[in-house]
Amino acid sequence: MDVFDHASLAFPQSLPEFQRLFPDDAACAAYLEKARWNGNFVCPHCQAGGEPFRFDNRPGVLRCRKCRRNTGLMVGTVMERSHTPLSVWFWAAYLVASQTPGISAVQFQRQLRLSRYETAFQILHKLRAGMVRPDQDRIGGHPGTHIEVDEAWIGGRTRGEGRGVHHKTLVAVAVEVRYRQPGTAQDKRKDGRYAGRVRLAIATDRSAESLCGFVESAVTPGSLIVTDDWSGYNSLRTRGYDHHAIAECGDPEVSEDFLPISHLVISNLKTWLNGTHHGVSAKHLQAYLNEFTFRFNRRFYPFNAFRSLLGIAGVTAAPTYTELYSDEWQHTRCSGYGH
Ligand SMILES: [Zn+2]
Repeated sequence: MDVFDHASLAFPQSLPEFQRLFPDDAACAAYLEKARWNGNFVCPHCQAGGEPFRFDNRPGVLRCRKCRRNTGLMVGTVMERSHTPLSVWFWAAYLVASQTPGISAVQFQRQLRLSRYETAFQILHKLRAGMVRPDQDRIGGHPGTHIEVDEAWIGGRTRGEGRGVHHKTLVAVAVEVRYRQPGTAQDKRKDGRYAGRVRLAIATDRSAESLCGFVESAVTPGSLIVTDDWSGYNSLRTRGYDHHAIAECGDPEVSEDFLPISHLVISNLKTWLNGTHHGVSAKHLQAYLNEFTFRFNRRFYPFNAFRSLLGIAGVTAAPTYTELYSDEWQHTRCSGYGH
């Protein structure tokens, strides 16, 4: 089946719709079954087709009528080996996919009345594992776009450690800069510029090895890259990029003018880390950077995000270039996060 076929696997657009589509564990199981076999169950043990046995008290299990062996619907998904009911997982993926800032473990525990914080934390962490695309491609490489690359210190006071304890971590950001069509409602904001896809990574330091290494892993060679005039970026040309360094970028006003989109991304990232998650430790920061990147790059595709989070049917949820720069993309707000 076409895993991107919206009609065959509906994505709820609202809480009432979610309730209607996924009222109980059996409905969630039916969704998983449809995603995997689309109504044509094939036993993975003996390859026999035909309608399997179902059990009211074990909605996540199908039993082959021929070889009598069980097949778990959660196998191969992030829900595998979990004792948490399917419906809780579906709620989690829905909340994580549909809410712009995501949801904290504390909020999630409260909303679903989970007895243990650890359960909420683990569910969200497993969903987060679905946020890294194994074959994540590099951004850029498209005519008419350029990439802003910048770095920022993230962190500071860590929750529970009190004032004055600092764990600042250097984060490198690369973001595609796109231009709105002239004449559209938002083309006057930031000179019509808006963010395409982003890549974020922890950088060990501000050396050329670290920063240019990040660029090489994140950006397609040949792309035009705009940075400040920090020497760490000097070798970008010899590494195969078209490089434009903005002089005197130490001046915040100058850099705001010339690197506005990366500044917007960094500011949104900080707001999100502090607002939704109340700061995160350096140890977990990369996981949150992955989550932010996932949300940012899929902010108009909650349908794909939902199944990607659950790890259903090997969905590669990253929007294609065409999707990203379709009319739908152009007409939606670009600021992403922060209020
Ligand atoms: Zn069988």
